[in-house]
Amino acid sequence: MARVLITGGAGFLGSHLCDLFLARGHEVICMDNLITGSPDNIAHLFGRPGFRFVKHDVTNFIYVEGALDHILHFASPASPIDYLQLPIQTLKVGSLGTHTALGLAKAKNASFLLASTSEVYGDPLVHPQPESYWGNVNPVGPRGVYDEAKRFAEAITMAYRRFHGVKTHIVRIFNTYGPRMRLEDGRALPAFMGQALRGEDVTVFGDGSQTRSFCYVSDLIEGIYRLLMSQEPEPVNIGNPSEITIREFAERVVALVGARSRIVFKPLPVDDPKVRQPDISKARRVLGWEPKVGLEEGLKQTLDYFRGKVPPARS
Ligand code: UDP
Repeated sequence: MARVLITGGAGFLGSHLCDLFLARGHEVICMDNLITGSPDNIAHLFGRPGFRFVKHDVTNFIYVEGALDHILHFASPASPIDYLQLPIQTLKVGSLGTHTALGLAKAKNASFLLASTSEVYGDPLVHPQPESYWGNVNPVGPRGVYDEAKRFAEAITMAYRRFHGVKTHIVRIFNTYGPRMRLEDGRALPAFMGQALRGEDVTVFGDGSQTRSFCYVSDLIEGIYRLLMSQEPEPVNIGNPSEITIREFAERVVALVGARSRIVFKPLPVDDPKVRQPDISKARRVLGWEPKVGLEEGLKQTLDYFRGKVPPARS
């Protein structure tokens, strides 16, 4: 049984990681400052043996008593509207927070896994994106606060590996969806599902021809667990390579909800990537991992969750 610290543990992905590590018999310390995370995501874990919650901002010195085997650094605003509203916090948690978490890993002789992102590829000029692609990021655009924070986080993670010999891993996470996303986090899936459930117009940005590739959360979490247990030091893409235009994605959500919502078009946010699809050959080869949950099945599971969050639309 290992003792694991999960920063951002009350967030969407962090809370699913808490569940997985507890289910596999590990002890979990969940740390979160609750800026974008929510106690609702971990309410079912309070009082459970092996689980502890600590409210803390990881950009400040982290104190953990006793041994630690693994640190998973997931603390960060992660949806475009969150990091546009919290630009300084986003930069600080990716830089200072990653430094602090790496310092703790070094002090505890723990392995360290960084939650990085497909945003390190920016608006990609190579498609699909392999890990060897260095990206096309605008450092001074509004998304730069997230993209550059994560690029810095990758660089300092590699420096701690090379200079201090910390056992590190970097996962580049592509668009992921599932229960515990925040209804109002502004990302495509909660926006579309919330709008469809309320019977409102569904807002597609731009002409909807931009693409994304959506991975169901249980697949992503399994890939992360395998990466942590592996010896792989270089970044690994984890995501679902099945690519869809945002317009078609919106139509699929509206049809599944059975709503009469119309699709309306709004201006495309600045620097919104035109395409995105992970090349997952490396994850297949090194981790023996690939996603198993298709879009239809994943959307149904997610809809069950969101139905409980949105009052039924009046007809
Ligand atoms: N999007 C949209 N309508 C919305 C929210 C998002 O059309 O209400 C688009 C957004 O412009 C982007 C895609 O959906 O092209 C995915 O956006 P999301 O915020 O989920 O994450 P991103 O992949 O851009 O980080």
